[in-house]
Formats: sequence, C-alpha cells, structure tokens
Amino acid sequence: MKLYNTLTKNIQEFVPNNKDEVTIYTCGPTVYSYAHIGNLRTYIFEDILEKTLNFIGYKVKRVMNITDVGHIVSDADDGMDKMTLASQKEGKKASEIAQFYTDAFFKDMNELNIKKPEIIAKATDHIKEYIKMIQVLLEKEIAYQSNGNVYFDVTKYPNYYELSGRSDENNLVGAREDVTLDKNKKNPADFALWMTNSKFQNQEQKWDSPFGIGYPGWHIECSCIAIKYLGEKLDIHCGGIDNIFPHHTNEIAQSESYLGHKWCNYFVHGEYLNDKSGKMSKSKGEFLTLDLLKKKGYNPLSYRLLCLQSHYRNKLLFSYEALDIAQNTYSKLKNKVDKLKENVDISQLPESNKEYINKFKNTLEDDLNTSNALTVLYELLKVENISSQEKISTIKEMDKVLSLSLLSDNANWLNKKEKEEVEKLIEKRTEAKQIKNFELADKIRQELEEKGIILIDTREGTRYEVKK
Ligand code: AMP
Ligand code: ZN
Repeated sequence: MKLYNTLTKNIQEFVPNNKDEVTIYTCGPTVYSYAHIGNLRTYIFEDILEKTLNFIGYKVKRVMNITDVGHIVSDADDGMDKMTLASQKEGKKASEIAQFYTDAFFKDMNELNIKKPEIIAKATDHIKEYIKMIQVLLEKEIAYQSNGNVYFDVTKYPNYYELSGRSDENNLVGAREDVTLDKNKKNPADFALWMTNSKFQNQEQKWDSPFGIGYPGWHIECSCIAIKYLGEKLDIHCGGIDNIFPHHTNEIAQSESYLGHKWCNYFVHGEYLNDKSGKMSKSKGEFLTLDLLKKKGYNPLSYRLLCLQSHYRNKLLFSYEALDIAQNTYSKLKNKVDKLKENVDISQLPESNKEYINKFKNTLEDDLNTSNALTVLYELLKVENISSQEKISTIKEMDKVLSLSLLSDNANWLNKKEKEEVEKLIEKRTEAKQIKNFELADKIRQELEEKGIILIDTREGTRYEVKK
C-alpha cells in the first residue's frame, strides 16, 4: 500500500511497525458546536484509510480524541476560548455543551457510514497524563515555566520544522503577532503546555497541578492520548491539512522529546473542503452541517459519494449543484444495484470476482484513489460475462470500504421522485390542517409513517426524516 507521507513529502510504501496490527491516531472534533461538512470530509477520508487497511488484511487499532476542554485559537493567549464562549452563549455547563455536540458528531458519523474508532478518549479524562508529560519535559529542560504558565522551548527540538517544511524565519513572521500578545515566551514559536495565568480568568474548566490550578495547552492532549492507548511507536497519524502546523508539528516535538525517540512514521493529511469564498469554517458564511443538507432533502450518502469522487489530497469545492449531481449519481447507482439484486438470493452469494476485487484493491492501495475505485465498480456493473450473483457478491465486498449502503434496501434516503411525492403529501396535510380536516392530516401522517417517513412539525413548518 502506498500513502503520501507529509513527513517525507513523498508517496511511500506503507510498512507498519507490527505487521499484525496497524495503529492510527486521528484528531477528533472540538465539541463546542456542530461539525461542518468540511470536518466531515476529513473523517470520511480517515474512514476510507482504516477500511482500506482492513480490506488488505490488517487489523487496525484506532484512537480518536474528543476536545472537550477550553480550546484557545492559537498558542498565544489570544483568540477566544471556544468552550467557555459556547457555554456562556448557550447558558449551559461546558460539560453539557461537550456532551451535546459529541452526540451530534457521532450521529453525523453514523449517518455517513463512518466507523466509530475503537477507542474514543475525552481530553478532560486525561489530565493526569498531561501533568506527567509536562513534568518530564520540565525535568529534561525542554519546557520552562514563565509567569505561571509552562511552555515548550522549540529551540530544544532540532527537527521542529520538518513536518511543515517551514523555515525558522517564516515561522517568526507567522508568530510575530504572538510576540506582542504573549510576553511570557522565550521564543515567539514556543507553545503552551499548561496555563494558570491566562486572560481567561473565569475559565470554567480548571484542574489542580504541580504548576498551579489551570488547564492544558492546545496540543498536549493528542500526544498523551496517542501514547497511552497506542504505545510509544505510532504507525499513522492523520487529520486535515490545517493540523500540520502548528498542531501536529507541536505534537511531534512534545512526544519525541518526551519519549527520546521517533514517534510516528506516517502523517497523512486530507485537503480542505472549500466553499466559493475559500476554506469552509465554523464561523464564516452559511454553516453547512449534515443536518442542514438533510433538511434540504439530501441523503448523507450522496455527500459521502461526492467526497469519494475526488482524491483526499485534492481540494474539493462544495456547491449545491455538485451535490445535486452526486445525489443523482447515487440514486442511479442504487437503482442499478437494486435491479441487479432482483433475482439474487443475498443469503447464498458465491465468491466475489477476484479480478475486480484486485483491481479495486489496487486503486485503493495507490494512495487511496477512491475515484478510480468507483470506476472499477462501474466497470463491474457494465461487464457482461459475470453473473448477477457474482456481481452482487463483489459489490458487497467493495462496499466494505466504500460504505455507500449499496445493498441495503432501506438506506436513509429518497430519490428525487419520492422526495417530490413526500413534499406534495406534506403540502396536502398542511392544507388539511388549515381547514381543520384533522382526520385527513392524520391519515397522511400515518401513510407516510408506514413508508418509514416521519413527519416533524416545527414552527417553521413540517419537515421529515427517513428512518434507517
Ligand atoms: P476541529 O473540530 O476544528 O478541530 O476540526 C476537526 C477536523 O476537521 C480536523 O482534522 C481539521 O483538520 C478538519 N477540517 C477543518 N476544516 C476543514 C475543511 N474546511 N475541510 C476539510 N477538513 C477540515
Ligand atoms: Zn490532535
């Protein structure tokens, strides 16, 4: 299997530390609001990575953290504390906010057929581990205390710029703003490990520590959680490209300084989902969530297909026009498979077709080329000398990676025609309610419910959900 490694800037043969089990660490969400579909693109790519490794025969142990602690925007004590801000805005405790958005995140993951990583670790459950790592870094004089805070001294870690390919000089330019904001640092590029003295004096989440009552810096959670669950040598670390600097750069510096040896061999990063104005973000433009797409009548799996149609290392420009096309393609694909399935006994499938499985595998082993993998699927659907049974059996195998619910009858979606019919019935029901014909309104609701379509009346009108 070949993967692009951000560490070496090359496509490399993937060789795990232990051939029986591959370890993967993926940075999880910051749970102060919903994930946007850009975030979800990254999780889809990571899901494909894990499932491809399974497909080619590896066992995978994967860990994801949940950032549920005050998460300042940068290493300097500037920006906003996202968790505190959200809890003030919503009038809830930080832990309640975190739980709510964690649940919402896993609901999105589930609807996109993304496998939940084997181990999910909350940042707030690992304070003990951060303290230990910081103590070791202080003992080694790689970290220092200044005005109540603990910082990592980047000059003590010689390969600091290896991952990002930045130079010391351009980092200084990037960090210039920080110099004016955080005078406690020795070097502008140093980053916080523990904060007791920050401008967020009313920070809700604080813990006692040998360095004073405070809270951890932005990066320490991932190093400590990865080492705790996956050991001192990690195979693959992934995330979106915005994680390369400073987050993953700082993770490497901390982890390797703490361990005293190389930590992770492969860093694999997914490109952005952009909107017309550039990188999609939580604070800019229309906030595109999976729920919003669903409300607009899109099937989550159409979005998954849209992501799989492009390579994870290419930028993907989101537009509703592109999603319409993907939805249409998905619908046609499902119809083709449905037709094929008509005369096939799913419980008695023959072996899958070796030639097509190999072709499919080769595309994925080529740095996860999912669009070519889809082409192989289309070729298989078209080819004439393979029986329907064998095709279905092969599609079933392929769908272990693609996860487009190709064989399920009751996927969480409606095609365009069905959608129009449902909308017409909803309109009819609204009219019936207006003239107080509740009998008809109830009849329509029941009729739809029998088809797995649940109506939800809101102040803005009636929307629907399709039961899986
Ligand atoms: P966050 O919740 O902000 O920590 O981000 C979660 C994940 O989404 C990280 O791996 C980010 O790198 C990734 N991410 C953030 N914005 C985008 C985007 N526009 N497109 C793709 N991935 C993104
Ligand atoms: Zn991380």
